[in-house]
Amino acid sequence: QKMIASHIQLQPIADFISNDKRDFMMHEGAFFQITNEHDVLQGAFVHRTNRGQAAGGVRYWQYETLEDYLRDGLRLAKGMTRKNALAGLWWGGGKGVMAANPNADKSDPKIREAVYKEYGELMSALKGCYVTAEDVGTNVLDMANIFSKTRFTTCITETLGGSGNPSVPTARGVVAGMEAAIGFLGEGDLEGKTVAIQGMGNVAEPLIKFLFDKKVKKIIAADIFPKVVESIALKYSHKNLEANVVGKNSTWIFEQLCDVLSPCATGAILNPNTIPLIKAKVICGAANNQLEDSRRDGLAIFNKGIVYVPDFLTNRMGIVNCANEDAGYVNNDPMFEQHLQRDWEFSIFKMTQKVLQKSISSAIPAADVALEMADKLSLENNPIFGHRGKLIIQSLIENKWFE
Ligand code: NAD
Repeated sequence: QKMIASHIQLQPIADFISNDKRDFMMHEGAFFQITNEHDVLQGAFVHRTNRGQAAGGVRYWQYETLEDYLRDGLRLAKGMTRKNALAGLWWGGGKGVMAANPNADKSDPKIREAVYKEYGELMSALKGCYVTAEDVGTNVLDMANIFSKTRFTTCITETLGGSGNPSVPTARGVVAGMEAAIGFLGEGDLEGKTVAIQGMGNVAEPLIKFLFDKKVKKIIAADIFPKVVESIALKYSHKNLEANVVGKNSTWIFEQLCDVLSPCATGAILNPNTIPLIKAKVICGAANNQLEDSRRDGLAIFNKGIVYVPDFLTNRMGIVNCANEDAGYVNNDPMFEQHLQRDWEFSIFKMTQKVLQKSISSAIPAADVALEMADKLSLENNPIFGHRGKLIIQSLIENKWFE
């Protein structure tokens, strides 16, 4: 309460939960604590655990209101249920969210260490109904601090026996989604195609390499940071790469004549301002929550005849990379590689084509088809553990965890 009063605008929670259920979808649990040091509000949102323990990263972000904070947690946890289920992973969906306290310097390593260690303690107290990972605002050191206090985490560094940086696998997954969509259109593969990429960060950089390896004709890319653009332009100066610095609200990249538009920057960029400008045949990128409004914008894209590969289908490799890291490592792990091959029923390629076919045959936007398939899969119980996450939550409540 003291922390909320100091920097988050307090409001009656019941009001918005009961008036607007957009983000609420029978979540199994939500757990909160305020850290002993530095007054940081920390939460673990558990959406659905039929397939396994809730899995998803922990975000460290600024929130103006408690509603914004809770909505983000509820929405992101639901999103992870769908991403994990559609990937065929035996994991449920959950998300960690920490609301930054403006009075606690986020760049101070000592403060971060204390805050993330307390988050690790929260994970241990929750007995594994939610298993955390890395997300926006959280870094490698933070993950090590969590890991020092709990075993209920993934996405730790290779030096601690973890899976390391997920960006390269994520880029490989995006390539698989692009190939599936181009193949679905009967246009062969990526060779000779033009791809426009928004954002030139961790995922886009290996993506550019993989696309040139696939012999694309041209890559057009944009980023808001001149240094980022400069360094990648220099690296690929021998290739057909057109890279530009753009303003934060620029629509330049959306207007480019290309085969594939690949959003790899931030979310909510497919909206009524940008969709009418898009000239691409396919949209397929790594950014999370690309559709500003999933129904409205998914329909607008569908009506324009653009093939949309739902983000949570194609950007799964980050979580796939770390999800089973505590089960050990195998070079060229077949359990990992099957997501990138073409014959496994849950592979990105197969799933994308299945979603796109169903979208055409039922005249329903691809994003809605994928959501429906994911929701159905998410209700399948884990073949070994059953719906154990719910039992963990019940026992936490019975044993008065909150006290
Ligand atoms: P990143 O921060 O390394 O790169 C994003 C880049 O986009 C940055 O260089 C940034 O300057 C640029 N950018 C921001 N706003 C922009 C704008 N309006 N126009 C052009 N460029 C802009 O992030 P990343 O790790 O490469 O991830 C990219 C996206 O993919 C994010 O939405 C992320 O949530 C999502 N994602 C990443 C992974 C992963 O493994 N890294 C996995 C799944 C999803």
